[in-house]
Amino acid sequence: QDNPVDGHKRVLLAAPRGYCAGVDRAVVAVEKALQRYGAPVYVRKQIVHNIHVVTELEAQGAIFVDEVDEIPEGSHVVFSAHGVSPMVVSAAEDRHLHAIDATCPLVTKVHREAVRFARDDFEILLIGHDGHEEVEGTAGEAPNHVTVVNSPAEADTVEVRDPSKVVWLSQTTLSVDETMETVNRLRTRFPELQDPPSDDICYATQNRQVAIKKVARDADLVIVVGSANSSNSVRLVEVAREYGAKAAYRVDYADEVRQEWLDGVSTVGVTSGASVPEVLVQEVLEALAEAGYGDVEEVRTAEEDLMFSLPKELRQDVAGQR
Ligand code: SF4
Repeated sequence: QDNPVDGHKRVLLAAPRGYCAGVDRAVVAVEKALQRYGAPVYVRKQIVHNIHVVTELEAQGAIFVDEVDEIPEGSHVVFSAHGVSPMVVSAAEDRHLHAIDATCPLVTKVHREAVRFARDDFEILLIGHDGHEEVEGTAGEAPNHVTVVNSPAEADTVEVRDPSKVVWLSQTTLSVDETMETVNRLRTRFPELQDPPSDDICYATQNRQVAIKKVARDADLVIVVGSANSSNSVRLVEVAREYGAKAAYRVDYADEVRQEWLDGVSTVGVTSGASVPEVLVQEVLEALAEAGYGDVEEVRTAEEDLMFSLPKELRQDVAGQR
């Protein structure tokens, strides 16, 4: 971008940003389940990691629980976009729950890779964050074959049984650059390390990082809309700082934007994580406009038109009603 005239206040709005295909599908799945079966519909874990989305669905009659044993027998339950381990699926069956699996197909793809490599007796180094629901689900597909690698530093210390049979997989929402650093450090120690058959970090995560990199180099401040437990949103803050933003902050809502962040700032970059509805971004833009940043220029680095069909349990049900 051209440099703004000194003191000229403007916003560079990253695109793509916000909802990805997997989040859209998961949220619609809960809404459709509520319409079709009536409230309450139970959801294991947050359907997507966004506080606004969860609050809105609660108002429509969704009940969010941590584990399926909190759900009355025979109820409808939606599994979140982050996926579940086979243990959760069988626990739901034991309770005779009607499960609707809203796991993002791009997470399911990683599950399948884990199953296949475990079957071939590979040791799987799963790059991701211990305790994140997606990592728990993927690791649960092959618990005896998976070791989680949390960071590049852990790549230097992780031990494997047989260095000639090791593959890496990853969480879908990581920093692309940091993951590559982890892989490089792993490969130094295990030269025969195999790559996944295709990218595990999903298109939406990658596209949002590319867009914010372009914005960040011209921004004094970057505001990322997204929740604290949203992996891809938190990564966007880190990437913005690495790529030149003088400061970068994450907010859930527009009223969290602090006046002092804007002191001396000409250019504000704005983006949002893959679980964030656009309305929250528009509210941030309105707050910025009130502060004098009404000039908004979109910086687009990719077009996205991917859409996923609804979970098969809902599709079957629609067909059954015809
Ligand atoms: Fe799927 Fe990627 Fe969206 Fe996660 S961020 S739901 S993996 S498309």
